[in-house]
Amino acid sequence: MIKAFVIGHPIKHSRSPLIHGYWLKHYGLQGSYEPIEVTPEALPAFLDRLRGGEFAGGNVTVPHKEQTFQLVDEKDPKTAHIKAFNTLVRREDGHIFGTNTDLYGFLANLDQEAPGWSGGLEDVVVLGAGGAARAVVAGLTGRVSGKVHVLNRTVERAQALIADFGDKVVAAPLEQFGAAAQRARLIVNTTTIGMHGTRFEGIDLARVPRAALVTDIVYVPLLTPLLTEAAEQGLRVVDGLGMLLHQAVPGFEAWFGTRPEVTPELRVLIEATLK
Ligand code: NAP
Repeated sequence: MIKAFVIGHPIKHSRSPLIHGYWLKHYGLQGSYEPIEVTPEALPAFLDRLRGGEFAGGNVTVPHKEQTFQLVDEKDPKTAHIKAFNTLVRREDGHIFGTNTDLYGFLANLDQEAPGWSGGLEDVVVLGAGGAARAVVAGLTGRVSGKVHVLNRTVERAQALIADFGDKVVAAPLEQFGAAAQRARLIVNTTTIGMHGTRFEGIDLARVPRAALVTDIVYVPLLTPLLTEAAEQGLRVVDGLGMLLHQAVPGFEAWFGTRPEVTPELRVLIEATLK
């Protein structure tokens, strides 16, 4: 039986076992996907278990994505500039291949929920400069013809991020939202603001062009205060749950050999756990 995992610390909040469990059953596959609590100190030994053949691969979540990037044997060249891996695949020779599927998940969610969103896309604004922001920025640089403005509370962190992404990506403090958003066609929140109903201070959506799309990668709650306010102002919005569902697709395919589909039924199943 093919076995896969998700490791994190803590891990019990993870919805990934539900997603992969749904697909295993839906496609009638013999396999398992289990959540495993792994502390940062225990991460190297756990990766040796993967090399040893106990698993086909698995997912990596907070706080292990950056350390895993350093520890794998083979880095996906398409996502190595993110410097954090969330998906591992064991090669036949025991080597661990690491990749970041948050980039794919972010783009696939917008492609599904807002078809055509990136046609003629010029400036975009990304709020936040943490691990998730790196994946979002990596995805956007391939779709944007103008600038990707990365705005962060700690501007030094935004500056460190842009150093890995070339001239198209620029850094600024959150206070410059009004100026950066004036020409933006897409606003993305990648900060933790919105979780548990927390709100931004000083982000004025009235400055955003009316044709803009606003998306949040926070998905608990599904409609964050930012998305609620954007919708009230008549802006198009896309929530972050689809990113979580789509990022799971490439891993499942690599481990179990079937490319799964993100269906409304799966979304309803996971949405029910967000209440
Ligand atoms: P992270 O590396 O810890 O980064 C956190 C970000 O939030 C930083 O930019 C931080 O700014 C900012 N921030 C935190 N508190 C703030 C405050 N009070 N005011 C202003 N900015 C604040 O976290 P991450 O891994 O990037 O994850 C960010 C969020 O994305 C989490 O909620 C996570 O659940 C979600 N996420 C969703 C998906 C999905 O599939 N939908 C995937 C990955 C992550 P500073 O640098 O100034 O501290």
